[in-house]
Amino acid sequence: MNLFINNIGQLVTVASYGKRVKTGSDMRELHMSSNAALLIQNGIITAIGKNGELAPPSDIDIIDAEGRVVLPGFVDSHTHTVFAGSRENEFAMRAEGKTYQQIAEAGGGILSTMRATREATKHDLYKFADRRLNDMMRSGTTTVEIKSGYGLSPDTEVKILEVISDLKRDHYATIVATFLGAHAFPPESKDDKQSYINRICDYMLPYIAEKKLATFVDIFCELGYFDLKATEQIILESKRHGLIPKLHADQLNAFGAVELGAKHKAISVDHLEKTNEHGITALKNSETIATVLPGCSLFLNHPYAPARSIIDAGIPLAIATDFNPGTQMCYSMQMMMTLACTQMKMTPEEAITASTLNGAAALGLSNEIGSIEIGKQADVVLYNVHDYKYIPYHYGVNHVWKVVKNGVLLDF
Ligand SMILES: [Zn+2]
Repeated sequence: MNLFINNIGQLVTVASYGKRVKTGSDMRELHMSSNAALLIQNGIITAIGKNGELAPPSDIDIIDAEGRVVLPGFVDSHTHTVFAGSRENEFAMRAEGKTYQQIAEAGGGILSTMRATREATKHDLYKFADRRLNDMMRSGTTTVEIKSGYGLSPDTEVKILEVISDLKRDHYATIVATFLGAHAFPPESKDDKQSYINRICDYMLPYIAEKKLATFVDIFCELGYFDLKATEQIILESKRHGLIPKLHADQLNAFGAVELGAKHKAISVDHLEKTNEHGITALKNSETIATVLPGCSLFLNHPYAPARSIIDAGIPLAIATDFNPGTQMCYSMQMMMTLACTQMKMTPEEAITASTLNGAAALGLSNEIGSIEIGKQADVVLYNVHDYKYIPYHYGVNHVWKVVKNGVLLDF
């Protein structure tokens, strides 16, 4: 738990000096120092200084960074990491030009993941997710939000949340649980959607809150899924049980989901591919974080979220992967930064801030993680590059050299 890292070529701290989140031009300010050293004691960053000036205490493990770049661990604030099965056949059908409807008729879509996840044992779900989390950490992610949402019944949603709890207890990554029972309607409620909404509100939410199985409640607010009325009902009920709302909003249609999230103080609204000036105005007057998911736009060939307009409006913006088996099968935050820079007109500095400190804020954790500052948890990643801008520039490869999580050097 005690570690001294010296000879750091670029120490990119993303320091926020007590601010919860960075906005506007502050997102470009990385507070970087060259030729630096870092002292970690009991999992906490206790000193930051110049190489040669900051002396290591005796009997401490030392990592010689040999001029490499050090960044805070990535915070992936939106994933669907616990699931069974895979959907490569659907991927191939999409490549052949098949429509969503044709894919659904052939047994694909979210319900195919639901069937596989319902059938899977807790042991298998744990094993699959554990492997994915290891890979995520190898590519620099040290905190991961994981949603339920592939069970769509009280028992199976709880099963997924229990797997997330077990992973939270066992895994090196910091894991945050989100209940996404309102991801889609299960086939058994197809003709009576309100009965499923009521089951979420009257049974699932109280149970999950009582058992402390989730911090957040997410809702797929979209035409044909959970409309504004259903979303508002679930938000209000979640808050009544002390659970914090967040939304999948404006992915396919802009019809007021972002505005609803802002009104009810959602911690974040995620996706935003279709967000227009009304959504931006609502976010400007709120504390809600805009989380963009560029991997989804790449994978589905959809438009990208208007990240430039969101940042320029002074709204805090985070980047996450949305890792899931149907529409975004990539958990590399390095890759997301490349997409942010090439497709959403963000600078590398903004992409780093959005993937670290602002991601932590989107999970309510930016006082503990997300930047390299004295007193914060020592989640730091060393990269095999000479300049931080090289990471999004040379894309499609993993640049991570070593990962330190909570002061522990991970052995991959
Ligand atoms: Zn999602």
